[in-house]
Amino acid sequence: MTVLDPRLEYGRWLRIPGPTPLPPEVREALGREMLPHRDRDLMEIIARIESGLQTMHGTDQPVLFWPGTGSSGWEISIVNLLSPGDRVVVTVSGSFGARWADISEKLGLDVVRASVPWGEPVLPEYLGDVIDQAGDVKAVMITHNETSTGVTNPLAELAAVAKAAGAWVLVDAVSSAGALPLEVGKWHLDWVISGTQKAWMCPPGLTIGAVSEAALAAAEHAGYPHFFYDVRANVAALKTGGSTPTTAPESMLFALDAALQLMLAEGVDAIIARHERMGELVRSGLQKLGLRLMAKPGYASNTITAFYAPEGVAAPEFKVKVREHSGVELATGQGDYTETVLRIGHMGWVEAPELEATLESIAAVL
Ligand SMILES: *Cc1c(COP(=O)(O)O)cnc(C)c1O
Repeated sequence: MTVLDPRLEYGRWLRIPGPTPLPPEVREALGREMLPHRDRDLMEIIARIESGLQTMHGTDQPVLFWPGTGSSGWEISIVNLLSPGDRVVVTVSGSFGARWADISEKLGLDVVRASVPWGEPVLPEYLGDVIDQAGDVKAVMITHNETSTGVTNPLAELAAVAKAAGAWVLVDAVSSAGALPLEVGKWHLDWVISGTQKAWMCPPGLTIGAVSEAALAAAEHAGYPHFFYDVRANVAALKTGGSTPTTAPESMLFALDAALQLMLAEGVDAIIARHERMGELVRSGLQKLGLRLMAKPGYASNTITAFYAPEGVAAPEFKVKVREHSGVELATGQGDYTETVLRIGHMGWVEAPELEATLESIAAVL
């Protein structure tokens, strides 16, 4: 993978956890002319995307997409699989898990939260206890990588606990898919959502859902009225050889196609190993500067690192100083941590030099 061109467009160098920088191949694809919506060339692109997404998700079951962002994936999974009043357990280890729980409640589900303090992972034993106490649980919603805290939850183990209880396993993989190990088939995940502006190296615009055959069959009985987000229409269109129920978001598909070609050329294992290196580089660099990480050791994410601002320094001010120094754009914390925590995104199109430059800039501001 090529190193990021250090030219600073808008005077900025994005090191936030999404949107992430776009490789030149993706930017070029975004400038392409449109095709007729049912054109053979477009169908070929869609078929190639489908196969690439399956490889990246470790599944031979359908991987679908809709115009939308990650958040729409939460709603899509719910309205296709569940019915109002169903009891669900939602893991909450930061702001994204909290939002999925809130949306579930807004949609009329009976929500039981499996909550842990920010910076901590949700552990399988605890999830098992919450499920046992909740009783008849239809689905368990798991945030794989909590972007607000930089914690990766032990997804395979959590999914096994949920499956053992006979529940559907819904996964928010928005900041992990395409970067961290994610075995949709092997781990028996039923609905795995992500968004193109994170590790997929594309602009915001598509939400992706990897769906199990069992979940697709259950979509026949979902109790929510829905039209645009009816997964059955997407599957039927896909089966015609590569189509979509409504006009395809073509530019986004061109971009995703280009990004997937880059990813497949690099290889799933190499991508995962690169993200491990990037995670380690950032964590050890910050610790050498005397900065404290938010994630509990052993559960730190390889796509995003959250760290505490130095004592007495407001995180938003620190962020501005780093931008003024180097153009590097950091993110601040979320929820109760907007003033005290900073976050560095290192997912997607990223190599060591830009992270070293980020660390140097943080050191200079310190
Ligand atoms: C970014 C993100 C989302 C929400 O994505 P949008 O594209 O902003 O809707 C959801 N979950 C996680 C874990 C994320 O990182």
